Amino acid sequence: MNRLEQVQARIRSAAEGAGRSSRDVALLAVSKKQPLERIVALIAAGQRRFGENYVDEALGKMARLADHGLEWHFIGPIQSNKTRALAESFDWVQSVDRAKVVRRLNDQRPAGMAPLNVLIQVDLDDEAQKAGCAPAEIEDLAATIEAATNLSLRGLMAIPAPRADPAEQTAVFARLHRLYQALAERYPSVDTLSAGMSADLEAAVAAGSTMVRIGTDLFGPRPD
Ligand SMILES: *Cc1c(COP(=O)(O)O)cnc(C)c1O
Repeated sequence: MNRLEQVQARIRSAAEGAGRSSRDVALLAVSKKQPLERIVALIAAGQRRFGENYVDEALGKMARLADHGLEWHFIGPIQSNKTRALAESFDWVQSVDRAKVVRRLNDQRPAGMAPLNVLIQVDLDDEAQKAGCAPAEIEDLAATIEAATNLSLRGLMAIPAPRADPAEQTAVFARLHRLYQALAERYPSVDTLSAGMSADLEAAVAAGSTMVRIGTDLFGPRPD
């Protein structure tokens, strides 16, 4: 089995173990810092959905891979002065965590493009310096996104800090899933819970993740 098949098998077995269909769990290939030839190999194997953390690096790759009909997701911390590139070039922005960024993305999404798909990044670890809004801020931010006509509110994204205790890890993902369900009840456009990386894919899928973001286990270690 190659790396892609191994990750797909992990998703399938985690989904089946939780009584879910693996068709309900999308795979985002996190290609940050990965060389172009590894991305091209994954495209040849059928992967279409890619995630990037650094705007300039991403724009370079997009230009060189423009013919492949790829779907690009921005998953890194957002600097306000980079929102125009996000609005003009990405299909999804998963790391929206403040109203200022919502306003800028909405103003800067070009007319004639489909609405930009947006996830609210939530910080479940109460670390003030971390990216993501506090759970208590989700409601206001969601209302701001809903009012922005060039954006489409699709759900939540989180990067929970690793827990050594599996029960604690499961509890964090369960808490995230409750926040997601509350949002989905209010907004019919909400259908995406982006959670789970190479190390915690199984726990995230068991707790209801609909999109896992995998870098290392798909591509191999990121070269420095
Ligand atoms: C880098 C990154 C990933 C992928 O992490 P791996 O451990 O390499 O699978 C997923 N999500 C975000 C937000 C990232 O920055």
